[in-house]
Amino acid sequence: MVNMQKIAVIGCGFVGSTSAFSLIQTGLFSEMVLIDANKERAEGEAMDLSHGSAYLTPMKIYAGTYDDIVDAGIIVITAGANQKPNETRLDLVKKNVNIFKSIIPEITSRNCEGIILVVSNPVDILTEVTLKLSGFPANRVIGSGTVLDTARLKYVLGRHLQVDPRNIHAYIIGEHGDSELAVWSGASVGGIHINHFCELRGHFQHEEAMERLAQEVRDSAYEIIERKGATYYGVAVAVKRIVEAIVKDEHAVLPVSSLMQGEFGLDGLCLSIPTVVGQNGVEKVVDIHLNNEENEKLQASAKALKDILNSLDI
Ligand code: NAD
Repeated sequence: MVNMQKIAVIGCGFVGSTSAFSLIQTGLFSEMVLIDANKERAEGEAMDLSHGSAYLTPMKIYAGTYDDIVDAGIIVITAGANQKPNETRLDLVKKNVNIFKSIIPEITSRNCEGIILVVSNPVDILTEVTLKLSGFPANRVIGSGTVLDTARLKYVLGRHLQVDPRNIHAYIIGEHGDSELAVWSGASVGGIHINHFCELRGHFQHEEAMERLAQEVRDSAYEIIERKGATYYGVAVAVKRIVEAIVKDEHAVLPVSSLMQGEFGLDGLCLSIPTVVGQNGVEKVVDIHLNNEENEKLQASAKALKDILNSLDI
């Protein structure tokens, strides 16, 4: 029996610990288990987080073992090496696939029935690896995908247009990485097409602005890593948003990474498309409209991922 008030975080580095910090502030959980290959690290984070919880919702936070996660409603995996300066997310692949080969059997051998949320990079590849190694149904394996990139897009657009990012409907889809794309054809603000809203704000060079802003989003992880070595606050909030949608059964539309099963002519790989997310995990991949150029870019993004998957021994 899964307990939706119990969450496990595997990997307690920058991303795991900041995700845990944002999760304890939701008030959604009564229990959080932290696991890390470095047990002392998990213990230290659990102690530190527990002290904060005294002013939040009371909950039990502890460093545990895989035996402690059996009934966890959600298992967040952030374990793995992170991107080094000038390293692409895809360069990380072999290192992190091997780490997942040690983690996933620990979960499946205990018949866990919760939802796995993969955050480690390259997230689309590792979501697919998790699906294959776990044998879980596709709805129960979710990658954080382009939820972070979409937040970045909304942020840069909000700044550009002087409008609340929450009133912008626009998505980054495809790979969480270099081949991702912005779906400009369906982007809107306050119910009108984005180009029209741009004109209301005195911006008329649409092509130039779209190119510049999408590039800023695509390069933002590199820019942050160059300055401070890792990115973690943005993704921690993205993790919180996905987890909240699951636990509260929100049926929220989020661009998580999940298994493509014929959508856009794609099969047998995970990437991000706006998806209805609720307590069963992936409910429905939304068949969004793409123009020809966007569809070509999505196919290229899928091909880049497929080439990597084909080179892996999974
Ligand atoms: P980090 O090095 O700070 O932490 C990784 C942690 O994983 C370490 O504490 C390490 O001990 C632990 N670990 C390694 N092998 C393990 C194993 N077998 N079992 C349990 N724990 C293990 O790295 P980080 O900055 O926290 O990044 C973690 C991952 O998140 C990286 O892959 C990074 O690229 C990714 N990331 C994803 C996004 C996203 O949007 N999806 C954003 C930022 C970072």
